[in-house]
Amino acid sequence: MLDNHKSSKTKLTELGEFKLIDHLTTNFNITQDSTKLGIGDDAAIIKHTHNTIISTDLLVEGVHFDLAYMPLKHLGYKAVVVNLSDIYAMNAEATQITVSIACSNRFTVEALEELYAGIQKACEIYNVDLVGGDTTTSIKGLQISVTAIGTAEDEKITKRSCAKDNDLLVVSGDLGAAYMGLQVLKRENEVFKVNPQNQPDLTPYSYIIERQLKPEARKDIPLLLEKLEVQPTSMIDISDGLSSEILHICKSSKVGANLFEDKLPLDPSVISTCEEFELDGTTVVLNGGEDYELLFTIKQDDFPKIKANPHLSVIGHITTADEGVHIITRANQKIPLKARGWSAIPEENG
Ligand code: ADP
Ligand code: MG
Repeated sequence: MLDNHKSSKTKLTELGEFKLIDHLTTNFNITQDSTKLGIGDDAAIIKHTHNTIISTDLLVEGVHFDLAYMPLKHLGYKAVVVNLSDIYAMNAEATQITVSIACSNRFTVEALEELYAGIQKACEIYNVDLVGGDTTTSIKGLQISVTAIGTAEDEKITKRSCAKDNDLLVVSGDLGAAYMGLQVLKRENEVFKVNPQNQPDLTPYSYIIERQLKPEARKDIPLLLEKLEVQPTSMIDISDGLSSEILHICKSSKVGANLFEDKLPLDPSVISTCEEFELDGTTVVLNGGEDYELLFTIKQDDFPKIKANPHLSVIGHITTADEGVHIITRANQKIPLKARGWSAIPEENG
């Protein structure tokens, strides 16, 4: 598998911190009107007309990513995208990011170039400006922190806390693919360790592997909802699996929900890979994670506006809090939904 962080040459110490920052950020362009000052001063300056929306994530090697099957370029891209997803989940527009990295001397200048190529790609595709960050050394491994900055008008902002009884529960895209992509990558990595000559044919898994290695954030959904004249009542992005996200909305909004198993959107390749791994597709969707789709609630009256849209699926509805949070199975059983979301914290042994 890819081992791109060892094959290159220039030591970080050969450049030094300041030259390194210059070197890595030189090709980034400023495109947002709201960016008044970018990289190079003590702080950046942003001038938004409306609210400023901010979200941060920290990614730690060995906890959140494994470079054995995550190329650095993809890692850079993904680190940005997962943060932008949080901004879109507020029904906001993303405008800037900052990126902070800590890395050990195991990494070379060329390796960080790869990382920044991915970051730059994401900036271009999502039209956000890189306006700052910090660079430092770590004893072991790589840590990346991305802060995403965006903007939204008061009446557009969508929190987790305003879902109401009878609202419809809607999800964008399809679910479970990123988790199944990870299962395939882990399996192939084990095979590779035993037999490095083996060249697996991953074509049947291309969609799910792409969803794991190169996830996309739903920048289009806030725009689509605006076009359809739908103001969601609550919204969250699906990073930890559908069940924990539904429970977050229900807890914040003090409501319950019924989710329908037969309404869950799964790509055919997710279904076939689940069969191969002898995993239950519904369990994968509920507990898998890293889909970065948007889960939101809308008023019943808005249903006609979204019902024909191929990007959106109605998967359930909101109830009162005392009714609890349940999934209605294909066999018509009502089962309480549990937060078996994905924890980045490994179990401690002994
Ligand atoms: P300071 O000593 O004030 O923290 P730095 O030397 O760390 O300044 O940073 C100089 C400039 O480079 C600042 O604008 C900072 O935001 C930017 N910067 C530093 N590290 C990074 C990075 N990894 N990615 C993007 N910009 C960075
Ligand atoms: Mg600094």
